[in-house]
Amino acid sequence: MIRLLALCFVVVLLAPAARADFVISNLRFTLYHELGHAVIDQLALPVFGPQENAADSFGLVLADRMHSESELARIITDMTALARLEAEEELFDPWDEYMPGAQRLARAICLYYGLNAEARLETARGLGMPTGSKRGCAEDARATKAAWISVLRRLTPSEGAAPVQSLRAAQRGKALRLLAKDIARINATLVLPRAIPVVQVDCGEDNAFYFDIDERIEFCSEMIDALRARSPG
Ligand SMILES: [Zn+2]
Repeated sequence: MIRLLALCFVVVLLAPAARADFVISNLRFTLYHELGHAVIDQLALPVFGPQENAADSFGLVLADRMHSESELARIITDMTALARLEAEEELFDPWDEYMPGAQRLARAICLYYGLNAEARLETARGLGMPTGSKRGCAEDARATKAAWISVLRRLTPSEGAAPVQSLRAAQRGKALRLLAKDIARINATLVLPRAIPVVQVDCGEDNAFYFDIDERIEFCSEMIDALRARSPG
């Protein structure tokens, strides 16, 4: 009984933290993915393959550059948990601009692993990466990183330059409050050719967008509710 009470106490203490992590991790990757679309658009980058895949790979290379090992392991683990829940409801559509969710996730885990293979085997294996994929993932990650690093170098602020707010978060919106530190971190890491407003609006769906017409990133407020509903604990 005492052990059970102690266990409940631990669960009660940990549950809100796990829920907050899950929401923030998935918001973070969504921001990095949308930023990928923005970078492709603003720099008019040639993209070989579907732009959604390129935005995902940009997101992972950026996350790899900005986060510690433990933070990145948290992000990919929470992305995996969300993708598995979403896959249960997904209907296969060969014309969808995204790869099927399970495959999109597998590519993300593969790239996560390959970007620092020595440190990440255990986490990647725990998330389902087969041993037979190790070499291919390491090679893919090397090529993907080489492609994006040259782009990131073009966007790196020059030493001693005045700070630039490339991402300009609106005042209102839970998603933007949760992402405030990440947006500040991105602004310290990258300077875009033109500033991009980041807003939260009601859109009637659980989604986020980059609009190239007016160069804006939009988080749907429904995304916060959907992430909370799916979060563990
Ligand atoms: Zn996208």
